[in-house]
Amino acid sequence: MTRAVVLFTSDLRLHDHPPLRAALAAADEVVPLFVRDPGVRAAGFDAPNRSAFLADCLADLDASLRRRGGRLIVRSGPVAREVGAVAAECDATEVHMAAAVTGYGHRREERLRGRLDAHGVALHVHDAVITAVEPGRVTPSGSDHYAVFTPYFRRWSAEPLREVCPAPRTVRVPDGVRGEPLPSRDALSGLSPGLPAGGEKAGRERFSRWVRSGMPAYEERHDDLADDATSRLSPFLHFGALSATELVRRARAHGGPGAEAFVRQLCWRDFHHQVLAARPEASTRDYRTRHDRWRGEAEAAEDIAAWREGRTGYPVVDAAMRQLRHEGWMHNRARLLVASFLTKTLYVDWRIGARHFLGLLVDGDVVNNQLNWQWAAGTGTDTRPHRVLNPVVQGRRFDPRGAYVRRWVPELRDVEDRFVHEPWRLPEDRRARLDYPEPLIGLSEGLARFAHARGRDQGRD
Ligand code: FAD
Repeated sequence: MTRAVVLFTSDLRLHDHPPLRAALAAADEVVPLFVRDPGVRAAGFDAPNRSAFLADCLADLDASLRRRGGRLIVRSGPVAREVGAVAAECDATEVHMAAAVTGYGHRREERLRGRLDAHGVALHVHDAVITAVEPGRVTPSGSDHYAVFTPYFRRWSAEPLREVCPAPRTVRVPDGVRGEPLPSRDALSGLSPGLPAGGEKAGRERFSRWVRSGMPAYEERHDDLADDATSRLSPFLHFGALSATELVRRARAHGGPGAEAFVRQLCWRDFHHQVLAARPEASTRDYRTRHDRWRGEAEAAEDIAAWREGRTGYPVVDAAMRQLRHEGWMHNRARLLVASFLTKTLYVDWRIGARHFLGLLVDGDVVNNQLNWQWAAGTGTDTRPHRVLNPVVQGRRFDPRGAYVRRWVPELRDVEDRFVHEPWRLPEDRRARLDYPEPLIGLSEGLARFAHARGRDQGRD
């Protein structure tokens, strides 16, 4: 009787899972294992919204395995120690897992390899499980990664993707391997009330609906804030309840401008992964520094609090920040807007915003969050790093009738369209009756401070 362990990490699914497929081909019995890693908790990656979504994903994975005759084993502790212990308990000769795509993941993989080597257990890591194209597969000449999206997208689009593998029909798990009770979202507090349910089943259903009814109009409508015309698949991708490879392949098979635009967004996810894999320090330090001396918590406490709580006096910014708190999610255009507002209009350190996002986002991950924050702050891969998004212009453009603002800022529910993004322009008596703050800062004042600070910090003053 041969046995193998499959370590699930950011790939909580049965469909299109090459490590599971390889383990089932190699061994008679397989232990599907998830380790609750205290390192993840210590790094603050286990915010309540994500913990709840993770609990749903694990419950769903366990249920799917049980339908196939197996079950999920959950353990807690350092990953190398727990995987080593499970392999020893069931006499496994090999362990299969997805190749890591972050610095933290690589260190974890190395520790695990050391542990297993010492006991004569083989570790097999599988590429392109977490991303469609793994970091480092396509590189420009003379560099270890692409720093600009468009040439990366061109190369990425030409790369052949591996075949999608079907979910297994049966999974035989050896008797006697100890596991813990599955974590439950009911035990968690501080959750956003509008948090979606997680799990592969929910993700696959959402994706199938999206391909039919959302994707065809995605290209024209994806920036409309009120329409909710994006896929909302990001948390499923974050936990690997859906496979990026399968999504790209199915979208391409469907075809059309909506599918092309959607695939392009999925490429952004891989793009950021290859940047951070090559420059892991960019999770905390400027990728391309302008030597900004940003304002921090001490200097800008009131502005930061107003931004976090959605009371900056700029309706579209406040709507977005309240959506984040309520749903644990925010529209991409809104993320760009509030990040530009914090870093450029308020001139606050991007790390402060990124930390707040990671505390709430159900899709929050170091790769996409930190690098998108850097993009918006002008310290990342944006080729126009000094652009500042004007919340009034952006509001009028992407929420022309103010429906998004009214949804999240009920104080402005009765304000007509032409004032909804600029309530300070209402006639004085009506303005006085509104329970809504004055703008925290004038936009031209913010622009002047940003221009001045840039000059000062780059030594031009
Ligand atoms: P869709 O528009 O349907 O796009 C499909 C998928 O493409 C998404 O699910 C996502 O996986 C990927 N994608 C789309 N845009 C981007 C992008 N700019 N960068 C990387 N991947 C992208 N995304 C995260 O997954 N986690 C984060 O922590 C995160 N933080 C962000 C912080 C800021 C400041 C900004 C500007 C963007 C951030 N994004 C993050 C990217 C993007 O906003 C979300 O992926 C997107 O809004 C998710 O909604 P959706 O699934 O409906 O996207």
